[in-house]
Amino acid sequence: MRTPRQDIPETTQPPGPALPEADEVLIAYKPILNGATIAILMFIAYDFVTRLLFPNPLYDGPMLVMNVVGLATLTFVHFCLRHELSTRQLDLLGGVICLVLFLNSNLQQLLSFEQENLVYSVLMMPVFATLLPRRRSIVIAVAICCVMLGWLVHANLPHMMNDYLSVGFAGVLTSVAIAVIIRNAVVNAVKARLEAVKDRETAEVLAAEARHLAECDALTDLPNRRSFFLALESRLARLRSHGEPFILGLVDLDGFKPVNDTYGHAAGDEMLKTVARRLTGVAGDTAMPARLGGDEFALIAPAPCTRTETVLQLGHRIEAQLSEPYDLGEYTCKGSGSVGLLICDDPQLSTHDLMERADHALYFAKRALQGKAVLFNAALEHEMTASGQIDKALRRCDYEAEFTVKFQPQYDLVKSKITGFEALARWDSPELGTVAPDVFIAAAERAGLIRPLTQVLLGKALAAMADWPEDVALSFNLSAHDLMSPQAMDSVLETVKASGLPASRIEFEITETAMMSDFNQARHAINRISQAGHSVALDDFGVGYSSLQYLQQLPVSKLKIDRSFVSDMLTDSSSFKIVRTMLSLSQTLDLGCVIEGVETEAQMHILRSLGARHVQGYLIGAPMAADDVLPCLTTTLSPRRARPDIAAPAPRQAQA
Ligand code: C2E
Ligand code: CA
Ligand code: CA
Repeated sequence: MRTPRQDIPETTQPPGPALPEADEVLIAYKPILNGATIAILMFIAYDFVTRLLFPNPLYDGPMLVMNVVGLATLTFVHFCLRHELSTRQLDLLGGVICLVLFLNSNLQQLLSFEQENLVYSVLMMPVFATLLPRRRSIVIAVAICCVMLGWLVHANLPHMMNDYLSVGFAGVLTSVAIAVIIRNAVVNAVKARLEAVKDRETAEVLAAEARHLAECDALTDLPNRRSFFLALESRLARLRSHGEPFILGLVDLDGFKPVNDTYGHAAGDEMLKTVARRLTGVAGDTAMPARLGGDEFALIAPAPCTRTETVLQLGHRIEAQLSEPYDLGEYTCKGSGSVGLLICDDPQLSTHDLMERADHALYFAKRALQGKAVLFNAALEHEMTASGQIDKALRRCDYEAEFTVKFQPQYDLVKSKITGFEALARWDSPELGTVAPDVFIAAAERAGLIRPLTQVLLGKALAAMADWPEDVALSFNLSAHDLMSPQAMDSVLETVKASGLPASRIEFEITETAMMSDFNQARHAINRISQAGHSVALDDFGVGYSSLQYLQQLPVSKLKIDRSFVSDMLTDSSSFKIVRTMLSLSQTLDLGCVIEGVETEAQMHILRSLGARHVQGYLIGAPMAADDVLPCLTTTLSPRRARPDIAAPAPRQAQA
């Protein structure tokens, strides 16, 4: 099959170096030689025919033979001139033409001298000067003509030697003048031609470079986004015309941003180049990898077989390659990539539809199975349609009316009291019913609607907080998109200020993933929050990269340990160890720590034994309506003591 790489026009190779000027000049003589050959051929043919018509027994025998030899030789020369010749061969052919002419006109003089035929000996000099390409050959030929003329005059008309000396001299001068004029004209023409060739070559090289720049990504040398979409269009056209299915793959690196932030851009660039090399290796000759931008790559591959397992094998090969360690010069780091795959076999779909499906598979891979390959299937298609409906509903809904905020208590085990509430958004859509917050938050982020939504939710949370006791704080979740927009941050800080509540009572929760997209922008936003007097909690700690760099470089005052570790803590020794390590990490760094998702007394017991102080979860209280917060605070709410017989996993179990 034709490789997709061929869909991209090949960059033109710069043409080979031009011939040296001297050789070019000789080659330019080719048409002159050719013209002269034809003229002399006709002259000899005319001579031959006249001899046949008006025979002269004195000398016609040798002359007819000479004519025939001359005609044959010139025909051969004419034939040779139609082919590619070296400059040496060209010079030789020029000599042969001159020799034929010379012998034809002088043989008759030798056989039967006639004074009026001496004019041919003189005329031959400018003819040779015109014909011969090399100066040296002209000098030799003209000299021979002079000698021949001198000899003929000396032998037959010795008393006219002086007169013919002048004629010979005039012949030489004319030859020199003609040689110079013709040579100059040829040299100038050649120079002009060579310059034109050079200009064309430069233009071709520049055009090739421009094409390369327009089609390839400068860093990785892979086809860029533009080339990729052209290739996708062309593959789709072939699917429609020939029914040839293909595979579309989208690849997104997991953890590229932290590498860039931690080790610098040079290391990040090296990582991207390595990814490009590895993808090219996996793609082989038949597939086309491309870089779409940032840490996003794509692949178009032939699909000789559309069996799910076969297609997934390609994804697994990519996965395996991307999880090999990366040698970044001074550092070596680990990495992985999520892969979304789509079998493109439906000619009804547009490139936009194909990209949307592959992107959804990638989104699923990133969300659920980071570092794995996911093939788009019917379930994902259903999910994609549903998320399309959510997007639509979100665009036309009334935020004030449809969104509410619930509050989940956070409990201090030392003070044995509720010290704050986390605000958690809820959406009851008249169209769709209740939509889960992680679903609609992600949809709002995708649709660029998170900023107004955050404003409405924050306003509602602050309003609810107005009659809370002064020692009860609010934790409010900010989206990564809020942090990335200085205007959104302005609005958030303005809204809190306008509420009149002290900044110290409002904490903002930020997930680690928020830091990944643009660490510097996130740091700037977090510094602003902190300078305004709010505390910042790093949410879902342990799920992402748990980078110490974030903790050291940011004014974070609290870690929130994700509930996934707590739920497994009793059965999974590694979750237990993670919780224990994160608790001691927060103590070492002098940071507060909230353990999320505490559901059972057994969990609470272990956490207490590990020195945990702040907990949140259904055991303390589920997210509640604003009206239930005050009753909850007034009720003496203390989690029951965990059963003493349930302890942390034994060290031996922990090692298992
Ligand atoms: P999160 O910030 O990690 O919120 C904690 C989630 O854990 C909440 O889910 C909460 O209801 C749930 N949870 C609390 N205790 C327990 C427990 O003991 N067991 C279990 N199984 N779950 C518990 P929810 O309300 O569904 O929120 C999900 C996510 O949606 C939140 O995770 C947060 O990332 C996002 N979210 C919610 N509200 C907002 C908001 O106002 N703004 C932003 N940007 N994100 C929000
Ligand atoms: Ca949270
Ligand atoms: Ca959380």
